[in-house]
Amino acid sequence: MGTKVKSVLISGASIAGLTMAYWMKYYGYEVTVVEIGAEPRRGGSPIDVRGDALHCAKRMGVLNAIKEAKLPTKGLKFVNAQNEVQGIMLVEEIGAISPDDTELRRDDLVDILYATVKNNVTCKFSNRIIRLDQNEKEVRVTFKDGMEGIYDFVIGADGIHSGVRKLIFGEESQFTHFLNFYFSVFTVDGKLGEQNYAHMYNTPNNMATVYFYNKDSADTLLAFRTSNQITVDRYDIEGQKQIVIDAFKGIGWKVPQLLEELKRSDNFYLDQGCQIKMPTWTNGRVALIGDAGYAPAFPTGMGSTLAMQGATVLADAMAENENHEIAFSIYNENFRAVVEELQATVYDGMSLVLPDTEDKINTRNKVTK
Ligand SMILES: Cc1cc2nc3c(=O)[nH]c(=O)nc-3n(C[C@H](O)[C@H](O)[C@H](O)COP(=O)(O)OP(=O)(O)OC[C@H]3O[C@@H](n4cnc5c(N)ncnc54)[C@H](O)[C@@H]3O)c2cc1C
Repeated sequence: MGTKVKSVLISGASIAGLTMAYWMKYYGYEVTVVEIGAEPRRGGSPIDVRGDALHCAKRMGVLNAIKEAKLPTKGLKFVNAQNEVQGIMLVEEIGAISPDDTELRRDDLVDILYATVKNNVTCKFSNRIIRLDQNEKEVRVTFKDGMEGIYDFVIGADGIHSGVRKLIFGEESQFTHFLNFYFSVFTVDGKLGEQNYAHMYNTPNNMATVYFYNKDSADTLLAFRTSNQITVDRYDIEGQKQIVIDAFKGIGWKVPQLLEELKRSDNFYLDQGCQIKMPTWTNGRVALIGDAGYAPAFPTGMGSTLAMQGATVLADAMAENENHEIAFSIYNENFRAVVEELQATVYDGMSLVLPDTEDKINTRNKVTK
């Protein structure tokens, strides 16, 4: 009699979840992915695939596709209210790990990863897990649409506000470390950008950046510091837009035009700047990967890299060890140092992109002149 094929349910069809889906299928599992969105979730400013994640991409056979999607960005210009350049950082100087580091649109990375799995895993879109019961043999799952399933393992790859984490590990507030800022991303008219460079304008505690892609579209990242945690209704997009409009009231440069675009935007995304820190990423037959377990926050520039790396480390450990308890402890032990070292860099990133005084803005500009 042959060995029973093991099954895994992955919650979240983004960078971590799609990478994990690829590897679990590769290692012979029956794979199901459940995603709350109607398709893999789009939007977001450019993301970076760096260092070890490039090695993961090579093993997955997607390195060339990632390189082909590389943005032509040469660097980041710091500008004043008159759009005069005050400082420049070249791409190689911004958190680079290896010369092959690649900046691409988040949408492109999601598409590349989704293409590796869409024909050979089961995807349940517009759905989510509402109940998880596990014993030493299996995990019983109830979905929002009323369907039920039994899996050998469940992997939570459902981002900062992970539903799997809440069901198994408890309330989000136990693991969220608020970094005293909020950020929003949305697409704007390409005319607001400039070929080959991203442009960043700062006032104390506020940052506006435009990333150019082509003549039709650019992405905007607006971030602001506040020590008060704002109550954000995740389903009230107009209310979220108003939070950003209020935070950028009276600020110059291209901000008034960006706010006009924000009002019309249909891919606006707002979240708090935070890190997720947990004492363990596994419980029984359930494991967390990516932002769900160890979000590093965008100023590190490493969210996607960490998500791809973490999924690969966990999948490899599960393939090499029949006993999942051993595999999970290897994942918890081997990956923790990587996560902690990276999360510690967030404050350097924040002082670069979100200086909180005029003096700090001037010093940064002088150093990068
Ligand atoms: C729309 C969007 C825009 C982003 N923009 C940026 C950006 O501009 N800069 C940046 O540095 N990072 C951004 N991020 C975060 C970035 O993608 C992650 O830090 C990184 O890529 C790690 O990916 P992840 O797969 O762990 O998490 P995420 O990319 O956050 O993916 C989580 C996935 O889980 C899905 N999901 C959420 N809840 C559930 C649920 N209950 N059940 C099922 N599925 C669920 C989401 O729809 C999403 O597809 C963005 C994320 C999203 C979703």
